[in-house]
Amino acid sequence: MVMIIDGAAVAKRIRAELAQQVLGEKLSPGLAVVLVGEDPASQVYVRNKSRAASEAGIESWQHTLPAETTQAELLALVDNLNKDAKVHGILVQLPLPRQIDAQTVIAAISPDKDVDGFHPVNAGRLSLGLPSFVPCTPQGCMILLREALPDLAGKRAIVLGRSNIVGKPVAQLLLQADCTVTIAHSRTRDLAGECRRADIVIAAIGKPEFVKGDWIKEGAVVIDVGINRIDDVVNTGKTKLVGDVDFAEASKRAAAITPVPGGVGPMTIACLLRNTVLGARQAG
Ligand code: NDP
Repeated sequence: MVMIIDGAAVAKRIRAELAQQVLGEKLSPGLAVVLVGEDPASQVYVRNKSRAASEAGIESWQHTLPAETTQAELLALVDNLNKDAKVHGILVQLPLPRQIDAQTVIAAISPDKDVDGFHPVNAGRLSLGLPSFVPCTPQGCMILLREALPDLAGKRAIVLGRSNIVGKPVAQLLLQADCTVTIAHSRTRDLAGECRRADIVIAAIGKPEFVKGDWIKEGAVVIDVGINRIDDVVNTGKTKLVGDVDFAEASKRAAAITPVPGGVGPMTIACLLRNTVLGARQAG
């Protein structure tokens, strides 16, 4: 029987632990979330972050700026938040409008408040194996992976996707956990064959049900990061969310698998809160 890794339940447990730590250690963590423009998906995401933060005892402030905000204006806000002692975490919601260079903005966030873990200093520290803010989605992947497979040493892992926010950092974390890691991308030859050798498959491609059931080795653990909205005309006539993996077919071969929704998704916010509490603790 395949184990369905319940990301929603694990995320709930983490949020409850954080609430206890905040109380027990008398911390006053603060998270500033910056949203530029009116992307509806980002608005929902930002609202969910604020709600989860308050439940964990984290104060959060939302800064919503108009879509035509200049890069200089955004950098001025980041500068103020860097200097604000009540703020332990700064999150600038991506994507940003065209006139703003995301890398410039990320580099302007103090590495000590970079709870997304995207700053070059934190990315560099992660690759050197030094303590750092670990990006939230990769951190969530590793927690869920360990739910199914506590001992990762020597396992063959494949990461599908090499983005800076998911693929590369999750590969670093797998390497730190002593896995033998393959990073695949759009130019990889024989992706199916590469997958079939893997004890662990982390799928972060952004293509609905791209990874087929027969790509999965018997007994492998599958962490599906993908969030894709597709038409479900046959069953409901509405749209639905699916991952990058064909869940029904992969479940027949995998030992454990994360569902979409309810897998990695809820972990991302829980890990953001975790990083914010860490930031508050480090600020003393
Ligand atoms: P990106 O678009 O930045 O990266 C996608 C990666 O997949 C690229 O490295 C690309 O390769 C690779 N890729 C694309 N097509 C193929 C293919 N045919 N074969 C092999 N590799 C391919 O995506 P993200 O990393 O930002 O996100 C990936 C998925 O995860 C998305 O569905 C996104 O919605 C989801 N996501 C979910 C989160 C959550 O909270 N659960 C958070 C963040 C993302 P190349 O580099 O060669 O172009």
